[in-house]
Amino acid sequence: MRFSRPRGTQDIIPPEVDTWRFVERVFEEVCERYGYRWIRTPIIESTDLFVRAVGEGSDIVTKEMYTFTDRGGRSLTLRPENTASVIRAYLENGMHRWGGIQRLCYLGPMFRYDRPQAGRYRQFHQVGAEAIGSFNPALDVEMIQLVVEVFTGLGFSDVDVRLNSLGAAQSRGPYRAILLEALEGLAARIDPESMDRYRQNPMRIFDSKEYGDALKRELPSISAHLATEDGEHFARVKDLLTSAGVRFTEDPYLVRGLDYYTRTVFEVYYGSYGAQSALCGGGRYDDLVEECGGPATPAIGFSAGLERIVSALAGRVEGKPGAGPPLRYYVVCDGEGSEDRALPLGSMLRARGAAEVDFSGRSRKKQLQVAEKKGARFAVIVDAAREGALTVRDLVAHSDAEVAEAALPQWLDDHEEKEGGA
Ligand code: AMP
Repeated sequence: MRFSRPRGTQDIIPPEVDTWRFVERVFEEVCERYGYRWIRTPIIESTDLFVRAVGEGSDIVTKEMYTFTDRGGRSLTLRPENTASVIRAYLENGMHRWGGIQRLCYLGPMFRYDRPQAGRYRQFHQVGAEAIGSFNPALDVEMIQLVVEVFTGLGFSDVDVRLNSLGAAQSRGPYRAILLEALEGLAARIDPESMDRYRQNPMRIFDSKEYGDALKRELPSISAHLATEDGEHFARVKDLLTSAGVRFTEDPYLVRGLDYYTRTVFEVYYGSYGAQSALCGGGRYDDLVEECGGPATPAIGFSAGLERIVSALAGRVEGKPGAGPPLRYYVVCDGEGSEDRALPLGSMLRARGAAEVDFSGRSRKKQLQVAEKKGARFAVIVDAAREGALTVRDLVAHSDAEVAEAALPQWLDDHEEKEGGA
C-alpha cells in the first residue's frame, strides 16, 4: 500500500530544501539585525481567536479554515495565519507589561483550505514579523525597510512595494456609507450572493477574486476618504519612505483579506512572478490587541509566503545557496566488520567538520565515487582486512596516504594546517 500527501501540500526535499534554508537564513539574519526576537506559538488555536481577529465574514473564516472538534469537545483550528496567535500570546504572557515596542518574528506552516494552484497551497509556510506598541509612522517605514532588505538580501533588487491606507474607524464609518451607495449602483453586475456579503462589509469587493480591476476602479477608494488623523499618518509614512529612499507605488485599491488591518497596508510584488500573487503582505492593526482583550496598543506586521519566494527565486540563484557547510570527510567501509572502526572514526571526524560514514555495503570504488560526488575533501578508507591502518585519499590532490589509525588526527592536523586551516 502506498500513501500520497494530502492535496495542496508539498514535500520539500533536497536539493530544493536548500533554497528554503537560504531564504530562512536571510530572513533570520535581517530580523536579528533589526532587533527582532523569535516567537513560537501553537499550530492549533481556539477557533474563536481567528473568527474574532481575521473576521467573521472573511474568506479565510467562511471558507478556508481547517476546524475540528477535539476529543474534549473544543473547537480548534489549524492556524491560517500567525498574527492572531502572536497577539494572543503577547497578551497571555503579559508581554504588554514589558514596556516599549515588542519586535517579534516567526516562521512556520499555515493552513488554508483554498483551491490549490500555482503559488497557492493548503499547507504553506510564512516568515513574518510583528512590531507591537507604537503608532509612530516611522515604525511603518522601518518595517517596510526590513521587508525590502530581506528581498534585497535574497537577490531581488527590484521588488515593487505597493502601499495604501485603510484608515481607522473614524475614516471607515463614513467611507462605508459612500462605498455602499456606489456598490448598489453596480449591483446589476455583481452576483447577488456576493452582493449580500459586500453589504455586510463592502470593502471585501476589493480583495475578491471574482471581480476584475475595471469594476473595482469604478468605486471610490478609501485613501481618498481618510479622516484628518489617518490622512496625516499616511502622508507621514509616504514622506518618511521617500526620505529613507524606499521606492513604493501607491495603490488606492489595495486592501487585505484579513479584517484586522487599519491604516497602512502594503504588499510586495516581484516582476513577472504571478502578477496576481503577492510575495508578501502586511500592515497596521491598531485595534487588534484591544479587540483581543488587551489595552489599546497599536501594532504593525507582515508575512511572506516561502513557497512563492522560493518559486520566484528559481532560476535566479546559482548553485545551491545555503546548502550548509560542505561535507569534509567521507568514511568508506570496505569489508565485513569495518563498521566497528568506522563508527568511532565518524565521531572523531565530526568534531572537526561535516563527516559522513558510508554503510551502503557497496564496493570501495563506488563509495569513493560517492565521496567525490558529494564534494568531500578527504575520504578515509577503513579496510576490514587491515587492522589499525587506514588509507586517506585527498580528493583534491588525488593522492593516497597510508596512516596508522591512532595517528589520523595528527595527520589531518598537519595536512589541514598546510592547507591554511580547514
Ligand atoms: P496573507 O496572510 O493572506 O496576507 O498572506 C501573506 C502572504 O502569504 C502572501 O503574500 C503569500 O505570499 C502567502 N500566502 C497566503 N496564502 C497562501 C497560500 N494559500 N499558499 C501559498 N502562499 C500563501
